[in-house]
Amino acid sequence: MKSVLAASVALASILFVAPQSAETQEYEFFFNREVIRQGDIVQVSTRLPFRAKTGTAKFSDATYNGYVTGGLFNVLVGIDMDTEPGEHEIVYTFDTGESREFMLTIESRDFGKESLKVASKYTDLDEKTQERVADEKKLLDALWTTSSPNRLWKGAFLKPAIGGLGSPFGLRRFFNDQPRSPHSGLDLKAPAGSEVYASNFGKVMVAADLFFTGNTVVIDHGHAVYTIYAHLSKMNVSEGDDVERAQVVGLVGATGRVTGPHLHWGVKVNGARVDPSTLPGARL
Ligand SMILES: [Zn+2]
Repeated sequence: MKSVLAASVALASILFVAPQSAETQEYEFFFNREVIRQGDIVQVSTRLPFRAKTGTAKFSDATYNGYVTGGLFNVLVGIDMDTEPGEHEIVYTFDTGESREFMLTIESRDFGKESLKVASKYTDLDEKTQERVADEKKLLDALWTTSSPNRLWKGAFLKPAIGGLGSPFGLRRFFNDQPRSPHSGLDLKAPAGSEVYASNFGKVMVAADLFFTGNTVVIDHGHAVYTIYAHLSKMNVSEGDDVERAQVVGLVGATGRVTGPHLHWGVKVNGARVDPSTLPGARL
């Protein structure tokens, strides 16, 4: 527990000021990252306009509720791993009616690929299993749009287990030589039975046995930020529980489609598949 807490650092205080263009002379945007790539999580901030108290931001068809800190209006934006590299518009609308727009430049990232051998029941699904998988996907897809409008997280997000990096985020994957969905999280090489910690404060939305991810805990941190903990041998929380940062939510296991025990840690931001290692404050 101690080393997990030690891994936590304050939210990056270094802000990168977006390069000014002719259209954005009158206001600035700030980022917590210098370069924005496919799969990144980026905090985009701007000073609140006069008299404005809150607002929303629209990026890639998703609407984000921002949060105010020290006169800045901030939005944690998820850049899905398959977002087309290049310029993408983000539009802020404030409660005063004023709007601001800015272009985010997204750089491409080479995610690499990986071939894995798993039990054939995970690649050759019978009809009943196909229905189960479809139901589980529907449940999760609906979940990403029902996040708390309040910011439940506080400060930095923690790495949720002790252990080195196994498979990184974004790998294009082949299971038993068949192409499947890319790796939507990252794997930590934590030993079976070791503790899994909530990455931050939030509410447990899922604590269930899912076909591919086994015993799975999903925590809503508010503002459409979710963390996912998969393949657990044991779950210590139930749906609806409020959790604190570093609270033990379960134990590392090998349930679901795995080649051995590890923790799969996933993050979704407004439904976008993003790299957990780019969460503010996380250190791997
Ligand atoms: Zn994984």
